[in-house]
Amino acid sequence: MKIQKCDYLILGAGIAGLSVAIALKKAGITALVLESAPAFKPLGAGITLASNAIEVFDRLGIADEVIKEGLAVQRASILSAAGKTISRVSLNKVATKYPQVGIHRGALHQVLLSHVDDQQVLWGKRSTRIEQKADGIRVFLDDGDSLECRWLIVAEGVHSPIRKQLLPHSKVRYAGYTCWRGIAEVSDFKLDGAVEIWGNKGRFGYVGVAPGRVYWFATTNAPEKDPMRAAWKSKELLENYKNYPKEVGELLRATPDQAVLWNDIVDLDPIPHYAFGNVLLLGDAAHATTPNMGQGACQAIEDAWFLAQCLLQEKSPEPAFALFEKLRLQRTHNIVNRSRTLGKIAQWENKTACAIRNYLFSRISEKQTIRQMEKVIRLPD
Ligand SMILES: Cc1cc2nc3c(=O)[nH]c(=O)nc-3n(C[C@H](O)[C@H](O)[C@H](O)COP(=O)(O)OP(=O)(O)OC[C@H]3O[C@@H](n4cnc5c(N)ncnc54)[C@H](O)[C@@H]3O)c2cc1C
Repeated sequence: MKIQKCDYLILGAGIAGLSVAIALKKAGITALVLESAPAFKPLGAGITLASNAIEVFDRLGIADEVIKEGLAVQRASILSAAGKTISRVSLNKVATKYPQVGIHRGALHQVLLSHVDDQQVLWGKRSTRIEQKADGIRVFLDDGDSLECRWLIVAEGVHSPIRKQLLPHSKVRYAGYTCWRGIAEVSDFKLDGAVEIWGNKGRFGYVGVAPGRVYWFATTNAPEKDPMRAAWKSKELLENYKNYPKEVGELLRATPDQAVLWNDIVDLDPIPHYAFGNVLLLGDAAHATTPNMGQGACQAIEDAWFLAQCLLQEKSPEPAFALFEKLRLQRTHNIVNRSRTLGKIAQWENKTACAIRNYLFSRISEKQTIRQMEKVIRLPD
């Protein structure tokens, strides 16, 4: 299909881009979405969606479908490598009626895609740069094609070329640790909510995403793009985590090597602007965070809701984009910064420091933890 002009264009059909397309549709605005992947494939491992994301989905009328595709999480625990409880929170004590949900990324994507029109997403279209004028934007693609829109929403992830063009000094930062993820197929695994194990060989976490399917992740400190870590599969992970609770071994053994994903953990050094006249950055393109607070996608989903509200409130998109920036900058920066600090502490390797950290964390009451959590996982007014 050859489209030369449109009003609203979204770059990227990830969680941010699709959530925005759905939120705009609900606000009566149709947007075209360009996605660089040639087609949809239900890839990836799992993800947890906190109640702020589920509340947005509820407002968009898709929460029931998302919850049905995943598993509600009742508890969140942090254990030491010896299996001792450092922290344990009953999530039903958090003051929100929306659950936290573990879900396969592919299943989430499928639900989101089912709520946009077939013709709305053009696959295999990668943006490379833009030419911005007062009355519109020309978007250039890597296949030599280009198209024009009046308003551009950039949701193409942390490595967005358009953000790099608008803010050449924006910096993607390696967090100092690398991460493996997988989905274990287990029929008789005893789940106890979301669990994270902190030890001096790194972290290991897991959560159920569907009956008989458990999403796990593992992190270790490592040099950036380390070829040795890139080759690690279940065998090497089993060796690294051999002194961790037995559930770690059970999950690793139940994951085929070809299903183990690996990537370095990065975030985006907070940037000063999300709105650039008729162009808006959101999701990871604007505020990619380390996954330590489980809020990257949740904030992208919040973005979608608040953008639609800004567009409904303002007379034209440019002031709506500026209002979006005003509403979202501080909250998303805080999450990026807090998550980065938490990750550094959680990745400590020194045994004495780890023992002190675990002791101090164990002294924080469930009530205090919930109070802190509520500030993050309750949707702002
Ligand atoms: C290990 C790990 C665990 C995580 N766990 C959680 C969690 O439990 N909970 C949570 O809330 N968040 C989590 N996150 C964060 C979450 O994955 C991201 O915040 C979220 O995926 C961001 O969505 P996005 O759509 O902004 O970006 P992306 O997911 O990066 O999507 C961008 C889309 O744009 C496309 N694209 C890229 N470049 C172009 C281009 N030039 N032109 C057109 N299209 C393009 C891509 O193909 C992709 O489809 C985790 C992240 C990691 C790394």
